[in-house]
Amino acid sequence: MLVIVGGGFAGLEAAVQIRTLRPSREVALITAGPSLVYKPWLIYVPAGRRRFAEVCIPLAPLAARYGFQLIDDRVDQIDLDARRVGLAKGRVIDYSQLLLATGADADRNRIPGADQHAFFPCQPDDAEKFAVEVHRRMPKRICVAVGWDRRGPGLEFAGWLATRRKRLGAADMEVVVVDGDGLLADHYGAEAMAAIRSALMRAGATWSTESVLNEVTASAAVVGGKDTAFDLVAIVAPLCGVNVGLPVDMLDDRGFIRVDESFATTRPGIFAFGDAAALPSKVATGKTMVSIRQRVAHLASNVLADMDGEPLKPLEPTVAPHRSMANIGGHAILLRDNRVIGQGRMPLLRRWLYDQSYFRLRS
Ligand SMILES: Cc1cc2nc3c(=O)[nH]c(=O)nc-3n(C[C@H](O)[C@H](O)[C@H](O)COP(=O)(O)OP(=O)(O)OC[C@H]3O[C@@H](n4cnc5c(N)ncnc54)[C@H](O)[C@@H]3O)c2cc1C
Repeated sequence: MLVIVGGGFAGLEAAVQIRTLRPSREVALITAGPSLVYKPWLIYVPAGRRRFAEVCIPLAPLAARYGFQLIDDRVDQIDLDARRVGLAKGRVIDYSQLLLATGADADRNRIPGADQHAFFPCQPDDAEKFAVEVHRRMPKRICVAVGWDRRGPGLEFAGWLATRRKRLGAADMEVVVVDGDGLLADHYGAEAMAAIRSALMRAGATWSTESVLNEVTASAAVVGGKDTAFDLVAIVAPLCGVNVGLPVDMLDDRGFIRVDESFATTRPGIFAFGDAAALPSKVATGKTMVSIRQRVAHLASNVLADMDGEPLKPLEPTVAPHRSMANIGGHAILLRDNRVIGQGRMPLLRRWLYDQSYFRLRS
């Protein structure tokens, strides 16, 4: 049996592809929670533009439609020799092939104090808790520290919070955007940075003159070595791999699972895909839903080839330009290799259609 761990885009799309290509194959999807969280929409949750329930797609109807077994539990150990996974509730499940699609975790210890005093809204639980605190406390000043491994969503969380202050009943709330690791300009370059700052200001956010988040305390963030009072601090996003008890030689220095150009790990029959996987640099892309959807057919055919004892096909090096879009409070900035190629509301329409089509396809 193929066991897939993780019911996000990577695990779900792999299960659907494999069952569609080979309906005779037994597939079990083990995931912590009954739904896929449509993470790109988490940016709306703290700003009250969407309720958390609206960003969740229940998995049970998809399991019934595509004929895979769905197990709502957390894998907390993997016995590589015996080829079995151990679940938090005590069950043990044997696999012939294993696909790890556990996503990325927030690296809560990268900034001192952040683990106790900050929210990491890229994680579904934290997005929900952050939303509750925004509504309950009606904070006067929120710090959104942006940078590290997932920059775009940080700009989006900040932009939407600032734009919706009035609707949240907190017209005076100040949303201060901090360049968390001090590397935003190095990453985006001058032209894109100018567009981003202008979109954030237009949304009503404040750009911090100090950069680099050094520490978070109960009532402040230490930015550029200076103590600054904040009611809430959100950090977006230093990431690390999810710990499922794999030996360190299978992991990179941030705990992501090393794979080769075919998505295969160093252990026979074990693959990793999606945010969880660390691909070789010549074929690596950003950790995005879009790249998962582009590459899932390739992954599925390799998993099936492994089951059939056939050779795996490597990915070709990526030559296409890198496109990304930040939706800053309803004003989009469209980038190609960090050059601004579009701005305004129009790019949002295409994005809206993409999101709607995914929900229609999987709901
Ligand atoms: C705020 C935000 C905005 C984003 N915006 C975009 C965007 O606009 N465009 C884009 O292309 N991408 C975007 N992304 C990135 C995209 O959402 C991710 O690349 C994608 O969700 C990764 O899918 P995944 O399945 O690998 O991981 P995840 O979506 O994280 O899913 C992992 C799943 O594994 C489960 N799991 C983890 N550990 C275990 C375990 N031990 N046992 C069982 N289950 C486990 C989790 O509960 C989860 O269901 C955004 C991400 C965020 C956070």
